[in-house]
Amino acid sequence: MNISSYLRLVPSPIGLVTGANKGIGFEISRILSELGVFVWMAGRDSARIQEAAASLKKAGLPVDSVTLDVTDPKSAEAAAQHVQKVSGAIDILVNNAGIVNEQRLNEAGKPELLPPSRIELAMLRQTYETNVFGVFTVTKAFLPLLRKSPAGRIVNMSSGLGSLTLRSDPNGPYAVYNALAYCSSKSAVNGVTVAFATELRDTPIKVNAADPGHCATDLNAHTGPRTATQGAEIAVRLATLPFDGATCGYFDENGVVPW
Ligand code: NAP
Repeated sequence: MNISSYLRLVPSPIGLVTGANKGIGFEISRILSELGVFVWMAGRDSARIQEAAASLKKAGLPVDSVTLDVTDPKSAEAAAQHVQKVSGAIDILVNNAGIVNEQRLNEAGKPELLPPSRIELAMLRQTYETNVFGVFTVTKAFLPLLRKSPAGRIVNMSSGLGSLTLRSDPNGPYAVYNALAYCSSKSAVNGVTVAFATELRDTPIKVNAADPGHCATDLNAHTGPRTATQGAEIAVRLATLPFDGATCGYFDENGVVPW
């Protein structure tokens, strides 16, 4: 990937990726840092995120770690204060942290989604705490740092399962993934994306939603046909959009995803 147009806008970019200790978030951090972005790898467990950052530092990549639980506004504020103290500002925020909690292993050990009538309100609330309110909380905490950037970029990790157009097609590939909490949380992430993009339209900050495709990670008991590295690529592309790049959009590796 060539990010020279972005580097002309921001010669020494600084980014922050949530949920960076593993999976797609780790890969986004690795690729961005390989491209010359200094990456704050954020994770809710201090030991795990330090270990993940140490593995990239060992390879000579420009990263550091910060503890951040996206469900805790105090944790997000503390992380923003720490990053502000050390780095002054950030140019890129990738809201990557996410969970699925309506999945159970069946007798054959394969993950199975519970139908909407079998999930509990607590599952819905927990999913939204991380996937939706977490995106809002972290964006709010880091927006003052992003406003200092000449070319701020916010990428919200959505999913193809957040597309109401694709999910409501009974003959489409997503009809079988009827995970009420997860899918609707990602539709809400799309709504959060449009709202911040609209507010920030007259600023240098671009806000977009990314669909990484179905990637084999802990999230889905490694059932996806794609790799976490492949899933990371669309987020990296949106995180380093040039001056005339899109805002208020929803993209996968092939282009626009219908809302
Ligand atoms: P993953 O391997 O399970 O990683 C999820 C990451 O989110 C982990 O680092 C996890 O930290 C972190 N996280 C969860 N709750 C958090 C919290 N409260 N605060 C901070 N971090 C938290 O899953 P993944 O597949 O890489 O998923 C990354 C993103 O891509 C998610 O938003 C997911 O919805 C989205 N996505 C994935 C797929 C796919 O097929 N894999 C498809 C579409 C969209 P811990 O290790 O501490 O739990």
